[in-house]
Amino acid sequence: MKNKDEFRWQTEQFDDIKILRYQVPAFEQLTARERIFVYYLSRAALAGRDILWDQNCRYNLALRRVLEQVIRQYSGNQEDVDFQNFMLYAKKVFFANGIHHHYSMDKFVPHFSREYWRKLLADAGCEDAGGELERVVFEPAYLVKRVLLEEGKDLIAGSANNYYQSVTQQEAEDFYKRQTDETETCPVSKGLNSTLVKDEDGIIREQVWKVGGKYGNELQQVVYWLEQALPYACNEQQQKAMRLLIEYYQTGDLKLFDQYSIEWLKDTDSKIDFINGFIEVYGDALAYKASWESVVEIVDNEACERTKRLAQNALWFEGHAPIDERFKKTEVQGITARVMQVAMLGGDCHPATPIGINLPNAEWIREQYGSKSVTLDNITYAYDQAASASGVLDEFAWDDEEKRLAREFGSLGSNVHTDLHECLGHGSGKMMPGVTTEALRNYYSTIEEARADLFALYYIMDNKLVELGVIPSLDVAKAEYNNYIRNGLLVQLTRIKPGCQLEEAHMRNRQAIAAWAYEKGKSGKVIERMERDGKTYFVIRDYLELRNLFGQLLREVQRIKSEGDYEAAREFIETYGVKVDKSLHEEVLSRYEKLGVAPYAGFINPEYQPVMEDGHMVDVRIVYPDDFLTQMLAYGE
Ligand code: ZN
Repeated sequence: MKNKDEFRWQTEQFDDIKILRYQVPAFEQLTARERIFVYYLSRAALAGRDILWDQNCRYNLALRRVLEQVIRQYSGNQEDVDFQNFMLYAKKVFFANGIHHHYSMDKFVPHFSREYWRKLLADAGCEDAGGELERVVFEPAYLVKRVLLEEGKDLIAGSANNYYQSVTQQEAEDFYKRQTDETETCPVSKGLNSTLVKDEDGIIREQVWKVGGKYGNELQQVVYWLEQALPYACNEQQQKAMRLLIEYYQTGDLKLFDQYSIEWLKDTDSKIDFINGFIEVYGDALAYKASWESVVEIVDNEACERTKRLAQNALWFEGHAPIDERFKKTEVQGITARVMQVAMLGGDCHPATPIGINLPNAEWIREQYGSKSVTLDNITYAYDQAASASGVLDEFAWDDEEKRLAREFGSLGSNVHTDLHECLGHGSGKMMPGVTTEALRNYYSTIEEARADLFALYYIMDNKLVELGVIPSLDVAKAEYNNYIRNGLLVQLTRIKPGCQLEEAHMRNRQAIAAWAYEKGKSGKVIERMERDGKTYFVIRDYLELRNLFGQLLREVQRIKSEGDYEAAREFIETYGVKVDKSLHEEVLSRYEKLGVAPYAGFINPEYQPVMEDGHMVDVRIVYPDDFLTQMLAYGE
């Protein structure tokens, strides 16, 4: 991109969402053949979108079609207040891939009347869709939460997602417990790719997501585009993996998914890589069912130097970790850590997206074959560009030194944190014999994120990183510590509504770590709570002592995971990671509101346009669209 300064990183803001764009400079450096590969993979990345919508809630697709039709048919005044409120609701639904907020999981509340809704539907010729959908949109107590994680309640009955039909939490847990064979050394990820349904005869069975099965049409499309992409793959290893993925989609056989994951892991030097499948289980309170997602990535050669140095020293990091020797790996399986640029986001990775990914999730594959980890640096870059002018740092940082560190080193600090978290943190440590990740049940995701974060926090303050040339000085670590504490105790509270508690795994883990460190370090003044003009700040007074605390907590969290200590996991998270200090929360919200910045962000994807010659695709061009709604409507078609 020549005119970097003129690129519009943020295109709009509505409700608590800002819409950003990312650039893919690495795409320009590819050969035409590689660009064609990206094109086909990007089509495969978009082809499974409807699966995710249906997974999130069974009414989402029907509702989306009505919203799309109303928007296309509407011929009235665009400035009309009711219509504006309708559009706001529609955009929120498009952004969240359904009727529930992508982060809080709460159902959206429409700010227009039932009468207006009926009129819009009638005008658009889709009043038939009325009855049940009206309940879905307007009845506050109906389908209130996408994923319920509240202790003591039936997490299945209380979740509005579409992974289970007519089964209770107990029945679902029993169903999968019966399939557990403790002696199995290579267990498939049970329940990962199916809906669990109780039929009229009371028999519980799985509807498997595969070509010819549930989501068959969508998966057929995904397979079609993968097949088009196949001849353009970067190498034979990648082709081998892709064939297994296709076969897995065709059969639904989870053993094939594991085989695919292993072959995908072995492909470590493809310039272009991708994720396409049922991957993450955050959308299911019981963590069996995976949502469909896709990311297409292009390697960023320069930035890869950094993670290469970390990965080459993985065993050193494992050996020096402040955890019990029993839980340490004595050899570290091929960690592939690369810095990539996102070329296309799909399914559960779009429009909101992760900034780092570490896969596969199956613990036995990670232990035997290692894991592949990516930092998505064009996404982080876009965030930084959009955030630099927002004023959040000035509002929540205590003094000029904290701001200086953040401005100078904040971006590098968060990238290195992500590298450490993804490339070493998740891959480190081992389970005790006979212990599986299921032992921690609903606390597993949070504990696992905490473990990876603590690993990153502990090591970012290590001189080893300076020695390796990963960071120029420990000032980078200070910037990251400031940022972590400021975010964990203050800024991230802007993402939740007054009176609510923390539910999402990453948010819970960040607060748990920050709040625990604050409490443990209070007497020694490691972190001090300060007040100025009625505003609260958390100020780090002793960085090295804070590092020690992170080390202590890492030791305990690793023990919890390795031993499967459910009680300790529950105690730690419920004490530090869930509850919110009400008056502090109100203060933070009001300070944030004055800045007028939306706390969540997501992205408009670029578009890839084939260049045709004599009916053949000879190259692909990239363009950067700038209207979110237009892209959403186009994806809907
Ligand atoms: Zn993570």
